Parts: sequence; structure tokens; C-alpha cells
Amino acid sequence: MIKKSLQRCSKWITMAILPVCMILGCNLKTDSKSFLEVSKLDGGVAKVGKNELVALKRSIKGELLTSKDSSYSTAVEIWNRKRHPLNPALLVKCSNEEDVVKTLKFVESKGLLLSIKGGGHNSAGFSLNDNGVVLDLSLMDGIEVNPETKTAIAGPGVRWGKLDEATQRFGLATTGAIISDVGIGGYTLGGGLGWLHRSLGSASDNLVSARIVIANGDVLEVDAENNSDLYWAIRGGGGNFGVVTSFTYRLHDVGPKLVAGLVFYSMDDVDSVIDFYRDYIKDIPDDLGTWLLFRKAPISSALPKDIHGKPVVAISITYNGSLEDGQKYTAPLRNIVEPLADLVKPRLYTEWQSSLDGAWGNGYHNIWKGHYFMEITDSMIAVLKDKVALGSPFSDIKIQHLGGKFAEMPEAATAFGNRNANFGLVIQTRWLDDANTEYQEQWTDDVFNELKRYTTGNVYVNFMDNEGEKRVRDAYPKKTMERLGKIKSKYDPGNLFRKNQNIKPKE
Ligand SMILES: Cc1cc2nc3c(=O)[nH]c(=O)nc-3n(C[C@H](O)[C@H](O)[C@H](O)COP(=O)(O)OP(=O)(O)OC[C@H]3O[C@@H](n4cnc5c(N)ncnc54)[C@H](O)[C@@H]3O)c2cc1C
Repeated sequence: MIKKSLQRCSKWITMAILPVCMILGCNLKTDSKSFLEVSKLDGGVAKVGKNELVALKRSIKGELLTSKDSSYSTAVEIWNRKRHPLNPALLVKCSNEEDVVKTLKFVESKGLLLSIKGGGHNSAGFSLNDNGVVLDLSLMDGIEVNPETKTAIAGPGVRWGKLDEATQRFGLATTGAIISDVGIGGYTLGGGLGWLHRSLGSASDNLVSARIVIANGDVLEVDAENNSDLYWAIRGGGGNFGVVTSFTYRLHDVGPKLVAGLVFYSMDDVDSVIDFYRDYIKDIPDDLGTWLLFRKAPISSALPKDIHGKPVVAISITYNGSLEDGQKYTAPLRNIVEPLADLVKPRLYTEWQSSLDGAWGNGYHNIWKGHYFMEITDSMIAVLKDKVALGSPFSDIKIQHLGGKFAEMPEAATAFGNRNANFGLVIQTRWLDDANTEYQEQWTDDVFNELKRYTTGNVYVNFMDNEGEKRVRDAYPKKTMERLGKIKSKYDPGNLFRKNQNIKPKE
């Protein structure tokens, strides 16, 4: 009897939904149930009716995908998927701002778990979640460059390679990530360091304005005059405050050719190289950007075969000025000791921006952890030398020289703090084989912990793993954190945007 009435009921539901689907031309794919189970913010599970999904799908211009769709597996492909193989119940590919508003209203009204996916390069995998909703911005990838005002408006699905390409058509650029596939969204909102941060400031320092959809679905213009608290917060405070639907950047004259590249030295010479480097950077112009790389030499046709896999230290150079001056500043690097490879040359800025792409694609396990520090000491270098020898051939420890225009921005002017640190450091552990995971996790912790005593105790949000609340506090000066908490309460009191380096609303 009960079975019969259930059968009748499910037949009725199917009959009710099918015509809706047919009328709407919708091919929403879920399993045979009349609802989809979706994780909620409070830890529970919501049963979202198929008819509600059909209505959402019908109302947006973009796409709504479930695990039954053939394009789902491509849509959940993120840079660090091997380490974070998460599968959302629903993925909404928004194609415009209205889609974002509708999706947020839908998610908010049901209290669903939400992730925001820009370029999908966050190493902690925040752009996905298990069984919740992902708001995917990849279709919103328009770019408009205005050479008169030297600004560019870019959609949140744009990657750095595309933005560089578009701005360089006019000989312009702004600070971008050093790998071209990184999304502008997470990168800029977290702060944005690159080859050019000493010359031009961080990417967020060059964010002139933005449009943002907050948790309740309101669309806000954000700049120095409008919603200035939010303008302050999104320049370093990450994706905590809403979904940014367009970024307007200030551009600068860059290239098209500049002197840039890497000089590689044997790790056996690291002491001489660092002795030189410490003096060298004391007196360089803001337009000269340098990073240090400690790693095993990658298998690359640009490097002699006999050094592949051997521990090396490299100095990267980017001179944002004349080629003559660039050559002049670079010359001393060739005389420290005999380099293993000298790849510094005049080259197109766009080529330099993508020159390391080959080593940093998808398909690996990755853990990123960071520090800031004031000086490079001999004992710190001894730690790096020891650790590189024991590390994966794909891993890298990078040190960014800060200062320059980045340090000129007053600490309180934006949420991107720690401007007084002289150096940033990121441990980029990377390996292929699942069987190595335990070893590589331990290696990362060892490097991180052994370096701790040399650091300021702070960290840059874009160079963090999912390390918990206390470590998020380390990313911001105390006053900045307090202000971020208040702004979070104002714009996202329910902490809808929590799949990130989360700033909790402050009561
Ligand atoms: C290979 C590689 C190279 C990198 N190089 C650099 C570098 O040179 N300098 C540097 O500073 N960092 C660098 N990073 C770190 C990078 O800045 C962060 O991983 C950043 O989060 C990537 O942004 P995304 O949009 O691709 O990430 P996603 O994973 O898509 O997003 C990460 C988070 O950002 C937020 N978010 C993204 N877009 C939006 C939006 N439109 N609105 C609201 N919130 C949003 C969300 O909270 C989301 O969870 C690199 C990372 C990788 C993997």
C-alpha cells in the first residue's frame, strides 16, 4: 500500500518536472531523485528540488552543472586538484553580473555552502568544496584596455597571460603573477606580488575600482569615493566580502622588451652568491626587481643537461626601464662565480611573464606555505641548502625582494599589510607520486618550522595553505585585522564567503 502510493508519488513528481524541463528546453542532469542534496553552511544538508534548479538554470545566461554533466569534470579541474579532489553538488558558470546576483540570492536563501572560482589556482583548493555550490567565473573573461586613461577593465575569469597580452598591445602592463595561467581574481584580492611589485606596487595597489556583488545580492561600485571601506578591504583582504565582477587596473608603460631572466649558480656556491646579493640589493633602483630561487634544476632545454636535478640557486632579474640600463645592472651577476646558466637577456615582457609556465602546470600535488622576514642570514641559507637537497625535484623555495613602490604605500592605506618586511618567502612543495605524500608533507613542515625563527612571524595570504584561524591573523597587522572583521560584519554578517583565508565577522 505504502509502496504503491510512493510509486504514484514519484511518478507524479516525474510527470510534473519533465514537462517543465521540456518547456524550458532544460537538460538538467541529476540522478533519479526529485531533489539534489547540497551541503549547507551550518553543516547540514539541503534537499534542493529539481524544479528549483530548473528555475535557476532557466533564469541565468550561463550554465548550471551537476556531476552528471559531461563538462563537469573539466569544470572542477583546478590547479591543485590532485591534492584537493573536491566535488561540488552544483557548479554555476556565470556569464554576467546578473547571473552572479541570481546565484548568490539562490545560495543565500537556502544557506548553501559556497566557493568562488576565479582562475582556480589557489593552492589550498578553496575554489571548490565537497557537495556545496561553486560559483564559477571563468566565462566572464572580457578585457577592455583604454590607452588614453591607461586603465584596463577585466572580468573575474581573466588569467594574467590574457591581460598581459591585451595591455602589451599598447605597451602597457600592471604587476601580475609570474605564471600566466593564474587568475586575476584571487591573486589581486589577496594582494598580488610579481616581477614588477618594486617598480609598480602590488596588483591591488593598482586596483582603481571594482564592482562587487555582496552576500545579499546588492551590486556595489567600489573605489576611493564609493564604498571606500570595501575598497580598502578588497585590496588584500581576499574574497571575503563578495564576488568581484570587474576589476579596473591602473596601467604603466612597460616593455614591450625589457631585460629579464634567471642566472643559475651551483648550490655549492650559494654562500658567495648570497654574500654578493645582500650587497647588490642595498643600492638598486625601484625599477629593478629580483627574486631568489632555491631548488633542484628543472629538466628544461634552457639549462645544460648535466645540471638537471642538481641543487641550484638562481637570481631572477626584471628591469622595468631601458635595455641599456638593464644590461648594466645585470652585468655584475655574471661575475660573482661562474654561472651554470645565464638566461638574462632583452626579451618581450609577455614572454618573460610566461617563461616559467612549463614547470607550473596542473596535475601535481602542491603545498604552499610562506613567511616574511627582514634579512637573509647565513644560517637561514644553510637551512635552505640542506632542505633543497632532500626535497622533490619539482619543489621550489622562492624569496621575493620587497621594498621599492610596494613599501612606499602606507601600511594602513589598504588591507595588504606587512609592507615593512624586506623579503617574502614561499615554500612550494610539489610532487607527483601519491606514495610520496607523507614525506613531502613532512619536508614542508620541516622547512617551514626551521625557518620560523628567522621570520617576522607574518605571512602573505596568497602564499598560505589552509592553516587555520591563527595563521590568517598572522597575515594582517592587528589593526588591519580588526578593521577587516568590522567590514566583514557589515557586508557579509553570515560569513557566506568563508571558503578562503577566512576573516570572521566581528560582533
Ligand atoms: C602557479 C602559481 C603561480 C602563482 N604566482 C603568484 C605570483 O607570482 N604572485 C602572487 O602574489 N601569487 C601567486 N600565486 C598565488 C595566487 O595569487 C593565488 O593562488 C590566488 O588565489 C590565485 O587566484 P585565482 O583566481 O586563480 O584562484 P581561485 O582558486 O580561483 O580563487 C581563490 C580564492 O580567491 C577568491 N576569489 C577569486 N576570484 C574572486 C572574485 N572574482 N571575487 C571574489 N573572490 C574571488 C575566492 O575566495 C577563492 O576561493 C600563484 C599561484 C600559482 C598556483
